[in-house]
Amino acid sequence: MMKNPTGPVFEYLAEHNGLIQTARKIGLPLGGTFFVGGQETEETIQTVRELNKDGRAVTVDCLGEFIETEQDAIGIADECIKVIYCIAEEKLNAQVSLKLTSVGLRLNPQIAEKQMTRILETAELFDMRVTVNMEEEAVCETIIQVFERLHGRFSNVGIALQANLYRTRFDLERLQSTVRVVKGAYTGPADIYIERKETVDATYLQLVKQNLLQGCYTQVATHDEDMIREVVRFVHQHSIGSEQFEFQMLQGMRPKRQQELVKEGFRVVIYVPHGVDWYTYLMKRLAERPANIGFTMMSMLRL
Ligand SMILES: Cc1cc2nc3c(=O)[nH]c(=O)nc-3n(C[C@H](O)[C@H](O)[C@H](O)COP(=O)(O)OP(=O)(O)OC[C@H]3O[C@@H](n4cnc5c(N)ncnc54)[C@H](O)[C@@H]3O)c2cc1C
Repeated sequence: MMKNPTGPVFEYLAEHNGLIQTARKIGLPLGGTFFVGGQETEETIQTVRELNKDGRAVTVDCLGEFIETEQDAIGIADECIKVIYCIAEEKLNAQVSLKLTSVGLRLNPQIAEKQMTRILETAELFDMRVTVNMEEEAVCETIIQVFERLHGRFSNVGIALQANLYRTRFDLERLQSTVRVVKGAYTGPADIYIERKETVDATYLQLVKQNLLQGCYTQVATHDEDMIREVVRFVHQHSIGSEQFEFQMLQGMRPKRQQELVKEGFRVVIYVPHGVDWYTYLMKRLAERPANIGFTMMSMLRL
């Protein structure tokens, strides 16, 4: 697979503290960008309204990249709870996602568990799902252990698992829960991470099928047409109903295909990033794929 030649530049920009602080101060360019819902709650809720109009559901991802204190973690949880109330107030077709590190996992897993409890208690009032994003492998086991405790108390919590980790098929069997299957956005040592794209793709499909056959709700999060087609074939072959799975894509990625899937009768959920840490998220998307740079420029010029 061809590597994005500008990737390292955007990876560098994503970590640049001065630029991160400046971006927080100036806020998202007016009208938002292609890949981010909004910095302010109202901007993001407007994005949700727009996506809901043609039948696309949303998971609002409450971003939080740089947590240093418990107070920061409480701030991210407060914002997430605010988003939940806004969604519920307008009865929007949306749910929320977040990283456990953004609510304090690295400070102390108990802090993250406490903040997640607040978020899940609020979401439970409105029968709303909350998804725990998966992060780098170094924190994977801790995330799973916190998730297991939360899953024992709340039925509205799900988790993302990554196809490019060797451990994931055991995790899938261990958790028996709602899982968002992703290919994995992180890399690392070859004894931990699967490197070959073909093997990651094959593992991705095995995991989706395994979770569906376990009878668990499965969130098929990918932009890869080969993955989507094979999942559609598989669910028809096994008479798996649409109440057991959904497709998920990132905001701005393949919007036409998102709409087509809705028209084909599938549930489609769009991952909409929200919050002051939009800059780092956006730089990471630009690092991944050169075509995303063009989309972002077009979005800026429309202002
Ligand atoms: C909803 C959602 C949630 C996620 N959550 C997590 C998480 O919690 N943890 C984590 O590590 N990762 C997460 N990811 C990211 C994920 O791990 C992958 O890095 C990312 O989705 C790219 O993988 P892919 O499945 O799209 O396939 P890729 O192998 O990157 O792409 C496969 C093919 O898809 C097509 N394609 C991709 N993008 C486009 C486009 N914009 N336009 C047209 N065609 C395109 C191309 O044909 C490409 O060759 C999430 C992804 C999604 C969609």
